[in-house]
Order: sequence, then structure tokens, then C-alpha cells
Amino acid sequence: MPSSPCKLASPLTVLNGVGPALAKKLERLGLFRVEDLLFLLPLRYEDRTQLVKIGALQAGVRCLICGEVLLAETVYRGRRNLLVRIGDGSGQITLRFFHFSRQQMAQFQPGVRLTCFGEVRKGSGGFEMIHPEYRVLREDRDAVINETLTPIYPATEGVQQGRLRNLTDQALRIMHTEPPEELLPDSVRDSLDLPPLTEAVSYLHRPPADADVERMLEGKHPCQQRLAFEELLAHYMSLRSLRLLAQTERASALDDDKGAVESFISDLPFELTRAQQRVVDEIIEDLARPHPMMRLIQGDVGSGKTVVAAIACLKAISCGVQAAIMAPTELLAEQHWRSFSDWFRPLGIEPAWLSGSQRAAARRGALEAIADGRAQLVVGTHALFQEGVEFHDLALVVIDEQHRFGVHQRVALREKGVSTTGYPHQLVMTATPIPRTLAMAAYADLDTSVIDELPPGREPVATIAVPDTRRDEIVARVRTACQSGQQAYWVCPLIEESEVLDFEAAEASYAMLTQALPELRVGLVHGRMRPAEKERGMQAFKDGLIQLLVATTVIEVGVDVPNASLMIIENAERMGLSQLHQLRGRVGRGTRQSHCVLLYKPPLGQLARTRLAVLRDTNDGFVVAQRDLELRGPGELLGTRQTGLPDYRIANLVRDAELMPRVQVAAESISRFAPDKAATIVRRWLGDAGRYGKV
Ligand code: ADP
Ligand code: MG
Repeated sequence: MPSSPCKLASPLTVLNGVGPALAKKLERLGLFRVEDLLFLLPLRYEDRTQLVKIGALQAGVRCLICGEVLLAETVYRGRRNLLVRIGDGSGQITLRFFHFSRQQMAQFQPGVRLTCFGEVRKGSGGFEMIHPEYRVLREDRDAVINETLTPIYPATEGVQQGRLRNLTDQALRIMHTEPPEELLPDSVRDSLDLPPLTEAVSYLHRPPADADVERMLEGKHPCQQRLAFEELLAHYMSLRSLRLLAQTERASALDDDKGAVESFISDLPFELTRAQQRVVDEIIEDLARPHPMMRLIQGDVGSGKTVVAAIACLKAISCGVQAAIMAPTELLAEQHWRSFSDWFRPLGIEPAWLSGSQRAAARRGALEAIADGRAQLVVGTHALFQEGVEFHDLALVVIDEQHRFGVHQRVALREKGVSTTGYPHQLVMTATPIPRTLAMAAYADLDTSVIDELPPGREPVATIAVPDTRRDEIVARVRTACQSGQQAYWVCPLIEESEVLDFEAAEASYAMLTQALPELRVGLVHGRMRPAEKERGMQAFKDGLIQLLVATTVIEVGVDVPNASLMIIENAERMGLSQLHQLRGRVGRGTRQSHCVLLYKPPLGQLARTRLAVLRDTNDGFVVAQRDLELRGPGELLGTRQTGLPDYRIANLVRDAELMPRVQVAAESISRFAPDKAATIVRRWLGDAGRYGKV
């Protein structure tokens, strides 16, 4: 027996009144099949289940009334208004129309009874309804009262509410005659006290008059939770199945490095933190297996992820295969290239370099070395994975700052190194610590390691928020700090709409600062510079030749200059919490007490005030992330577009975060005991292809 009833799976054109033109419009709401209508939930509800006495009306409330026309007249208020006075014995109200036809005017004869639905407003002469929906009642008829609350659906151009109500009516009827399969096992539903699918769907589309509307508006009604749960489950299982798939694929088992890793670690100028050592152990264990590793390292800024990546690469190289590391910006990639060169040169390993802005000859040379295997380690930007790059025997891919890349890119990358020996191992690193529940949803295809410890001797960055009216004071502070041998960053306002404005703002700050601080060596780095220039500026700062570096947010990710201990961030009120935390992470990398000054333009709004306070109060990236999530929502935090995190139809990762642990448990049990249901759940919510590739 096919498990999904065919009518629900049919295109919308099987419904009465849906032709190709309307179907096109509905596609804009993400509606393709009849079933999709069931999951298009109302945004809110109107109560037409009871008549309100006109004498009992309150301003601001939308309600249904019934009354007899007492008087209808047109008046001029700049333009023609039609005013219709109706009463029901308990009181009177005026209906006001700006647009009306002669035919309408003729309808409103004294004595005619009307039912009206609209918002009650306080007008100059008592209560009014402006352009209410109304219906003329025949003499022998009572007012029509709905039995259920009236749903208001998300609108799209050219599709009226009435139409959507009609279509969902049809879809609901089909659902009742051919009920879709209940995919959540009873045990799961019982433990969470969630209703069955069909019950939840009908309730949400046509709630009874006494429904707890407030709870529904919060999205916390058990019927909504029921659907959100299944949707989260679908996404989770879809990613999870990628994880399981990887375990059935082959990869080079990297288990014989002849002690290279051990001696590398003991030769480092510092000791690994316990957290780093633990994560290294986990990686080494993964790499030794003949299946591709898929591991995420989460670690706050400055926790020392780079050296962990280096150790993983060394493991691969010492086993005679290639490793590659990819970073989201040229600046960061070059910094890695430099660190890796320093670390590996004594071992006779020279990393190859590949970037989009490279000259043709250099690129050709690099490509050859990558293809014939002379390049044991390749460092670069996403240029690494473009057409024409052929690896000799790529066995490990490291992706730094993975939140800058999408889920889809991550999945695509896996395919890149596929060879006769199998898939490459994959290590992704992120400095955007995200709350655990969100990580479960976003990274279900990965095993996770957390570096939850900073190298010893780090003092938390002391953060203050200062209005930019006190800019002179701050400039003086920069002078004092730099003259005592410290280095400082001055981060310019981010102007997202325009790279040109962004650049001009940086130039202006640079001009201001060079003038105010003639005794300091000031440098400038911004996104419009050529990579080589940018790199020169950064390197000069790193070498201490520049004391104050004026920069745009290009330095946001990864840049590592331990001697820099002061950061000024202009227009901090415009930036997001996580971004500010990332920026701030550029200081506090040495052993000296570091400071971060958030300059803002007063007056501060409430939200901005809260944001800046969070940064003042904590240095813990996970706390920052949690607060960011609460304040902004997951799309912003992870950058939905960037991560490829899907838009959910019903679930909301902030609101429903607490469901995730149970989603995880349910997924395990469904995959084990009802694998056919697992596939159907994924198909129901993500379509036939599954959204993340092979499912
Ligand atoms: P992130 O996790 O933000 O990428 P990095 O890898 O850039 O951090 O490391 C930040 C700084 O800390 C670097 O200068 C690095 O050399 C240094 N570092 C890393 N691990 C340790 C350690 N165990 N002890 C001391 N310093 C360390
Ligand atoms: Mg880093």
C-alpha cells in the first residue's frame, strides 16, 4: 500500500477553482501540493462566532455586529463619504465608506438589517467601523454566525483570504476522507502529550470558539507544537541520514604517522589546553577509521582552533596523503598559510597557496603541485573547490569559520575529494558558538567537539560602552596605550548597504585618527583593498610596525595579533551581538589585560542598550550566543542565507528550541524501529529530493 494518499499529494490544480494562474500565485506561498495547504497555518484568527451588542462595543476590537439601518447619507470630507448609521436597540454605530457604488447606496434603506465585521474605532460622533465586511440579511433570516474562529492566512498578492479559506476547506475535506498517515509513534506523542496529526491540523485551521487564541498566537498551543515537532524531526532526520551515510562510505584510515603528531605537539611553544588535547584525541580517533570523519569543532574566539586543525593536517600528511584547509576570507586564509608555514617548515612541509586573486602563473604552478601530490598541504579560500582544481589524494578537508559557508556548500565539498580510496575526512570549525539546542538542529549531520577552555593566562576583555560624544577621551586613551607599547584596533562603522560608503567611512576615520595622533604609526585595512595590500597592512600590524590599525569589519574573523590589547568599535549600536563578540575576540589574545570600547551614537534604543549590556557583562561566547538568539532569532545568528539553514514552515528554532532534545530521541527511535516512517516524514516536509542532497 502506498503510504501517502494520492489526493493530498496531487498538485493544487485538482482543487475547484484553481487554474494554472492561481497555482502560480500559490507557489509564491510555497504551496505546490494539496498537502501543503494543510501546513499553511493561519497567522491569526478573527472571532465571528458571536454577535457583540452594539452598546457593549470597545474601541480597537474586531468583532461581528448586527443592526438595522437607521440612516444613510453621503457627506463631503474632502471627498465623498458614505455614512450608514445602524442600531440594535442597545446602541448605535456609524459605518463609513470611502469607496462605494450607487448600488451599495441603494442597499442601505432604513429598516434593512446588516451583519458587519470590522474594527471598532472611536470617531468624532461615537463609534465607527471603516469599510466593514457586511452582509444584508433577508427579512426572515437570522444573522449567520460562524461555528469556528475565522483564520487569517499569510497573504500573497492576488490571493484573497476568502480564497485561501475556500482552498483550505477543500484540503481539510480531502484530509478527512483520506487521512494522511500518522507518522509520530504513539509513544512519542504520549510522552509529549501531543495530538494526532489530523486533529492538530483541523484545530489550527478552524479552531472552536473557545480556543486558547493567546496561546496559539504565541505558537505554543499543543496543536502547533505537534506540527513543529514533526517538522523539526524531518529536518533533523534528513541531516542525520547524511551522517549515517558517511559511516557507510570509505575513507583512508589515517593511523600511522610514525610519531609525527606527538613530536609536533611537544615542540610547540605552548602546551595544549586540556580541551584542545581532548578534541585532538577525538579527531585522531576519527581519522584512524576507514570511514569519513564529519566533525565540527565549536570553540569561542581565541580558544586555539587553528593549532588543532594543524595537528589534524599533520596527521594526514604524515600518513602520506593530502590535506586542505579553506577559510572564508583571503585575509584569514593567508594568516593560516603563514602560521602553517611557520609550524611545518621545520618538518620540510611547504603549504601551497590557492586563492581567487592569484596571478595565472602562480595559480598554474599551485594547481600542478596539487594535482601531482607535491603539495601535501593546500591553504586557500573557496577557490580551492572550484572547477579545475584536481587533488592527487585529498584525504582531509578542514573548513574554518564554517558559519560563513552553507550547509549545501558543506555537503558539496564532501563530493569534491571523492576518489577511488573514498571520501575525504572533514573537519569544520566555527567560532560562533551556538546554543546546544540550535546546534542540534543546524549540525545534525556532524559530530561535535567543543573547545570550552581558553589558553591559560588570558584575562577576560574588559568592555565598556561610551557615547561618541566622548570620542576625544577615547582617542587620548589610544595614544596612551600605544605609547606604552600596546597595539590597538579602531573598527569603523559597518555600512552594509554599500561597499563604497563603508570604504569612505573607513577613510574618514583613518584621516581623523592620523591627524589626531601624529605621533603614532597608523595603518588602514579595508575590504576594497587588493589582497596583497591588505596582507601587507596586516603583516605590518602583526610585526609591530603599525601601532594603530584602522579597519572595517574585514578583521572580524580569525585575525590573530596577540600584542593588540585595545579595540575601539565605532557605531557599535548598529552591529549584532555575535559580530561584536567576534570583533572583540581580536583582543585578549595575549597575557595582558585587554579593553574593548563600544562607541555608540546616543540616544540608544532599548534593544541596542540590552545588546551592549550583554557584552559588558560577559565574555562567554555561548552566553552571548544564547542572548543573541533570544534577541534576534536564529536566522540572524547563523545568517540563514549563509548557513543554508532552511526556513521552517511552522517550527521556530527560538520558540521551539526546547523540543530539540526530544526530537533527537524520537529520531533515534523512529530510525531504529520504523525506518519506513522516517523516510515518509522527511518526504512530507522536505519534498521528494530531501533538502540536503541524498537522503
Ligand atoms: P581561534 O580559536 O579563535 O581560531 P587561534 O587558533 O587563532 O584561535 O588561537 C589564538 C591564539 O592562541 C594564537 O596566537 C595561538 O597561537 C594561541 N594558542 C593556541 N593554543 C594555545 C595554548 N594551548 N596555549 C597558549 N596559546 C595558545
Ligand atoms: Mg580561528
